[in-house]
Amino acid sequence: EAAVSAAAIRLWLQKSADVLAEKRAYLTELDSPIGDADHGNNMDRGFKAVVATLSDKEDVGAVLKAVAMTLISKVGGASGPLYGTFFLDAGKPFAGKAELEPADLVTMFEDGIAGVKKRGRAEPGMKTMLDAQIPAAEALKAAVAEGKSAVEALKAAAEAAEEGMKATIPMQAQRGRASYLGERSIDHQDPGATSSYLIIRALADAVAE
Ligand code: ADP
Ligand code: MG
Ligand code: MG
Repeated sequence: EAAVSAAAIRLWLQKSADVLAEKRAYLTELDSPIGDADHGNNMDRGFKAVVATLSDKEDVGAVLKAVAMTLISKVGGASGPLYGTFFLDAGKPFAGKAELEPADLVTMFEDGIAGVKKRGRAEPGMKTMLDAQIPAAEALKAAVAEGKSAVEALKAAAEAAEEGMKATIPMQAQRGRASYLGERSIDHQDPGATSSYLIIRALADAVAE
């Protein structure tokens, strides 16, 4: 039972919406000292709208594309277009596919990350969502290369995302609103890296169920 079904992907998005609603105030609090105090509201609003589009689509590519379109249209600011790009590029190779193998999960992350890097002109270490996403993708890839199951590999990815999220605390922001603060952006955890960790943890939980 190696593959991840379209239903598991839909469960991932539902679980993401649940955790983003639960952590809405926390994410907005993180965005207060180094941003404009809206990240939790943005993500909660976006993912509530995402859940409304899910229905019972069995095409993983179509599900991820619908997520992207919803986030791009419903979430303003930096994070809407960036997460929209992540899901758009993550889903492109999987049009018409009903399930993903562990290696497909690696492709999904790598393609989504490449989109975010390009759209945000961002690299690791700039105190952005990428600082959770990239370590997660690397851990996922290493675990899959070792022959680990999707469940095990995603668990490793979620742990790496959490480490990556925490590692944003001492960073000085070089992209987004936080970068306007220069050195004053140091000693704060990046809101987008935090939402990315929560979303990656939701994927690990959904696939484990
Ligand atoms: P806004 O800053 O427009 O209010 P949000 O508060 O929803 O948008 O999202 C802020 C998050 O977006 C940041 O914490 C950071 O992780 C991410 N972000 C901002 N700019 C970039 C970028 N150029 N590349 C990658 N991520 C970025
Ligand atoms: Mg903000
Ligand atoms: Mg904003």
